[in-house]
Amino acid sequence: MTYFRNKIAVITGAGSGIGRALAVEMASLGCHLAISDINASSLAGTVEQLPNRDNITVHSASLDTSDREAFAVYAREVVATFGGVDVLFNNAGVASRNNLALLELDYAEYERVININLWGVIHGTHEFLPHLLARPNSHLVNVSSVFGLVAPPNTGAYCASKFAVRGYTETLRSELEGSNVQVSCVHPGVIATNIAVAADAPADMVQQFATRGLSPEQAARQILKGVEKGKARVLVTRGAYLLDWLQRLTPAHYRPLMFTMMGLKPEL
Ligand code: NAD
Repeated sequence: MTYFRNKIAVITGAGSGIGRALAVEMASLGCHLAISDINASSLAGTVEQLPNRDNITVHSASLDTSDREAFAVYAREVVATFGGVDVLFNNAGVASRNNLALLELDYAEYERVININLWGVIHGTHEFLPHLLARPNSHLVNVSSVFGLVAPPNTGAYCASKFAVRGYTETLRSELEGSNVQVSCVHPGVIATNIAVAADAPADMVQQFATRGLSPEQAARQILKGVEKGKARVLVTRGAYLLDWLQRLTPAHYRPLMFTMMGLKPEL
């Protein structure tokens, strides 16, 4: 993969999981990096793991993607450092805490999840799209989820944010058709990252992520392959392909089969 060599990539949420694995993989491919995370110490951990440091420039900074002013300042700093941007990964995201049913969620939790998962993506797009348009061949990549395709119980705030990311990204793709910016929406299935732990998910769910999830490194490689091809949708994991197929086959009746696949009780 020489495609990403000497390109400049922005990755949000690069302190852990998929964002960290994307950063490591892109560094090994010779891509210059602007990486950020709300958690400065985990981001420092990513910087330590980056290979190929003699051949690439790395800019790392703390950033809360839900903070509009901070994102604008950050984007100016990145563009001043590199002179432009070729690839943007709006990756930072959180799961809703405690796996609660809709009416058990308070407004503050809806706002937290939507501010990070949806507004973070919108902020990144607004700040960097003009710079992506100025490059000859660039990519805008938004990370949704398989829960931007199907909606199981107890994922209301997360699904609201991830379905919205999908709709927003598909609109972007339509608007940018024929331009020099390729737009991709990523729909990962279960990936073995910190997302469940960070959301105080029940122990059995944390265990499922750790034991059944695809590794973030494999996920990152699949995402990069899809981005290089300019794919509109990048599905990651066999489960994501299966659920996507299922909801397209029978959009009103996919739930029982989805429950079986996810080990949930049908009466939920
Ligand atoms: P992760 O928890 O391992 O990493 C997420 C990173 O985002 C963390 O480093 C965290 O500090 C950072 N972050 C959280 N809030 C932030 C904010 N406001 N500003 C900046 N950074 C912030 O999780 P992950 O699984 O690597 O998640 C990456 C993306 O993949 C998310 O958008 C997530 O919704 C999506 N995703 C993950 C899975 C999965 O199974 N892990 C499945 C589908 C989609």
